[in-house]
Amino acid sequence: EMAIEGLLAHRIAQLKSSAIRELLKHSKMENIISLAGGIPSDALFDFEGLSQATQLAITEQPKTAFQYGLTEGSGVLRDRIAELCAVRGVKTRGDDIVVTAGSQQALDLIMRSMVDPGDVFVVERPTYLAALQTLELAQAQVMSVSSDADGMVVDELEELLKKQRIKGVYIVPNFGNPSGVTLSYERRLKLIQLAERYGFVIIEDDPYGELRFTEERNPTLFQLAQEQLGSTEYVLYTSTFSKVLAPGLRLGWAILPDWLLHKVAIIKQAADLHASALSQTVAECYLGLGRLDTQIEKIRHAYKHKGELLAQLVEKELGDVITFNQPKGGMFLWAKFRQDDFNTTEWLKKTLEQGVVFVPGEFFFPDNIDHSTLRLSFATATDEQMHEAVARLRRAL
Ligand code: PMP
Repeated sequence: EMAIEGLLAHRIAQLKSSAIRELLKHSKMENIISLAGGIPSDALFDFEGLSQATQLAITEQPKTAFQYGLTEGSGVLRDRIAELCAVRGVKTRGDDIVVTAGSQQALDLIMRSMVDPGDVFVVERPTYLAALQTLELAQAQVMSVSSDADGMVVDELEELLKKQRIKGVYIVPNFGNPSGVTLSYERRLKLIQLAERYGFVIIEDDPYGELRFTEERNPTLFQLAQEQLGSTEYVLYTSTFSKVLAPGLRLGWAILPDWLLHKVAIIKQAADLHASALSQTVAECYLGLGRLDTQIEKIRHAYKHKGELLAQLVEKELGDVITFNQPKGGMFLWAKFRQDDFNTTEWLKKTLEQGVVFVPGEFFFPDNIDHSTLRLSFATATDEQMHEAVARLRRAL
C-alpha cells in the first residue's frame, strides 16, 4: 500500500518548512516583542513617494503597467538600475541585468541554471538560510567555511579548493544576514583571484550594502574583478529594492555575464514569464521622482541609531554572558554565548515565557552548528521595545 505522499518528487519529500517561519508564528502573539524578523521597518517606508509613483504608473503608463512585459524586465527600469549600480561602483549596462521577483528569485534562478545534483557550492558559516534552501532544492552539495569579524575566512576556502572541485561560492560580503560582518578588502581581492585561478563563480548577494552606518565603502567583488582582473565573467551580482524601498514590490535584480543571462531568462520564462509589470512601472516612476537617495539616508540613519542602541543594551545587560559583532550596517546583531555549550534553541522557550523572541543561530549553519549563537534584529522594534526586550532576555537567563 503506497501513501499518497509517494507521489511527491524525492527531492521535495525531504523538505521541511522553514523553522524560522514556524518560530515567527509566536512573534505575532500579543505582548511578544520580536527581535526575530528579518523584515525592514514599515514605519520608515516612503508611503508618500510610493503613492505618487503608483498614481503615476496607473495614470501615465497604464498599458505598460497592466500588460505582459519582457522576460528580462522593462528596458527603462533596467537602465535605471544600471545607474543605481554605478553609484555603488558596479559599472554595468541595462542589457546585462535581469529584473526578478526579489533577489530571492535571482538566487533561485542562478542555482537552477548552474547546479547539477552533487555539484559543490561553498557558503560562509553562518549564512543566509533561504540561499541554502535554493541550493538544496537544486540538489547542490553544500560545503561551508568559517567566518570571523572580517567575513568569510578565504584561506580556508583556498585549502578546500586544493582538494575539491568547487562550482560556486555564495557570499554576502556587506553586513551579512545573519552575521552582520563585512568581508575585508584583502579577502575580497583574494576571493576574486581564487575564482579566476580555479574557475568557479562567486554569487555576490548584496541586499544590505547601502545600509552602511559609516562612510566607509568597500568595493564590491564585481567592481574589484572589473578593475583587477579586467573581467566579471566569474562574478554574479544580485541586489534588491526590498531593503531600501519596499519588499512588497518583490523587485530585485541580477547582473549576469552573457554565458548565463540567456539561460537564466529561459528558466525565468518557465517560472513566471516576467516580474510584475505593475511593480516595475511603480519602481520606475519612483526612481523618476528622485526620492530614493533621501530615503536611503533616512533608513541608514534610523538603523544606525537602532543598531547602536541594541548593541549598548546587550553590552550592558548581557555583556557578562554574551559577545557580539558591533553592527556597522544592515539589520542584524549576531551574538554568541561565552559558555560554548549554551543552547539558544532551548533558551528560546524561556525567553518566550518572558515575552521576547529572537532567531537561534543553529538555523544558519549548513554544518558544524554552533548552538551558542543567536541573531537579533534591530530593524523593527521601537527604542522602548528594545529596552524592554533586552530586560526580558536578562530575566530569561
Ligand atoms: N539575500 C539576503 C542575504 C537576504 O537577507 C534577503 C532577504 N531576507 C534576500 C536575499 C532576499 O530578499 P528579496 O527577495 O526581498 O530581495
